[in-house]
Amino acid sequence: MTKLKIYNTLTRSKQEVKPIEGDIIRIYSCGLTVYDFAHIGNLRKYIFDDVLKRTLKILGYKTKHVMNVTDVGHLTSDQDEGEDKIEKGAKRERKSAYDIARFYEKAFVADLKALRVQLPDIMPRATDNIKEQIDLVKKLEDKGFAYKTSDGIYFDTSKLKDYGKLSGLEKQELQEGVRVAKNEEKKNPSDFALWKLSSSQEGKRDMEWPSPWGVGFPGWHLECSVMSTKFLGQPFEIHTGGVDHIGVHHTNEIAQSEAAEDKPLAKYFVHSEHLLQDGRKMAKSEGHFLRLRDLEEKGFSPLDFRLMCLQAHYQSKLDFTWVSLEGAKAARRRINDFYWDSSEGEEIPVGLLEEFEGYISDNLDTPRALSLVFETITKTQKSEITKGALKSFLEKADEIFQILEEKKEISQEVLELAKKRDNYRKSGDYQKADEIREEIVSMGYTVEDSGVRGRIIKK
Ligand SMILES: [Zn+2]
Repeated sequence: MTKLKIYNTLTRSKQEVKPIEGDIIRIYSCGLTVYDFAHIGNLRKYIFDDVLKRTLKILGYKTKHVMNVTDVGHLTSDQDEGEDKIEKGAKRERKSAYDIARFYEKAFVADLKALRVQLPDIMPRATDNIKEQIDLVKKLEDKGFAYKTSDGIYFDTSKLKDYGKLSGLEKQELQEGVRVAKNEEKKNPSDFALWKLSSSQEGKRDMEWPSPWGVGFPGWHLECSVMSTKFLGQPFEIHTGGVDHIGVHHTNEIAQSEAAEDKPLAKYFVHSEHLLQDGRKMAKSEGHFLRLRDLEEKGFSPLDFRLMCLQAHYQSKLDFTWVSLEGAKAARRRINDFYWDSSEGEEIPVGLLEEFEGYISDNLDTPRALSLVFETITKTQKSEITKGALKSFLEKADEIFQILEEKKEISQEVLELAKKRDNYRKSGDYQKADEIREEIVSMGYTVEDSGVRGRIIKK
């Protein structure tokens, strides 16, 4: 069995992925804060999670995957200042915070499905795990890691010997990196909120709960410490997130969980890089972002975007441009054309699959694995490899890539019609061809013409 090697931010090295015990790789991913639609920068990260899971699967590992839904308590800044994003979204749309969170959670799941991202085994919500979060704060308080200020309960980072080990920065540097805190009651600049008290000045919150310290809501990092270990145990194997989670969110998750339990939170921390737009990080707060729907409105399939993400290594920044998305669309079409050009699969040439698995298992090198696909297509054109063998290889690669059209969904009747239409087009009878096109469209498909064959896509 080929083993997966992955870059672990904790050790700053590539490591072979091994279960801690038993044979299951447990994965926890930080989910979306559901106060608005996901932007494609967010979605790049979930495509990365999906590639990781699918790679583990084809290499023979079993997985259990949990991803939280942040539906409370994530403030507009990643520090402990600013408004609650969900409550802010609710005010903006004049809905309740619960309605906002459920609406955008649903939209997020729809985006994931459109990108063929397999949903996690469990998707717990922060608001369904409030008691557990209060219990963790109590435990930290009992162990002397928490203190109270006028606006909440804070974690005392000076009490934890290796605070900040994930980022590799010394405590001093970390503290200097943190913006000057407005809260002068904090003992150290890097201390962070475990529980925030509702403020009477901000008006009544939709989401607040009684606690031993007063009515309030959990700090953002708390839910991940609680829900990861509740569903996966501690330690579990892989914790994923974006690189922007390293300095604050994951650093503080580790601090809480390890202070409470005196054992590691997770064995491997794996982080994917940003998607940039015009050289800048996408940010909803600055209105600098694109949604999946924006891409679809310009005639792109979500899977074109998926392929674009696969063309870059997950640890590299990826600059989104419409030109590169066009390139990905053309590349995807080329792969599909070759795939559908052969009706029957044949045996994959010796060594080809091993080479593919070699790239993908080496820290998920999808760009190199995709190059191998195109090299194999070229070999097919030179008749060095049969079309049937290529078809089987593409099918195998697609267990990870997920970029092939699903022809299976197209009914036999429509396929017959498409064949008839292609024949009319070949013989120059465009009127009859157009009539059939109308018929196919009325059945819920679109027809795109490339060369002599029309491509049928289910809407
Ligand atoms: Zn998290």
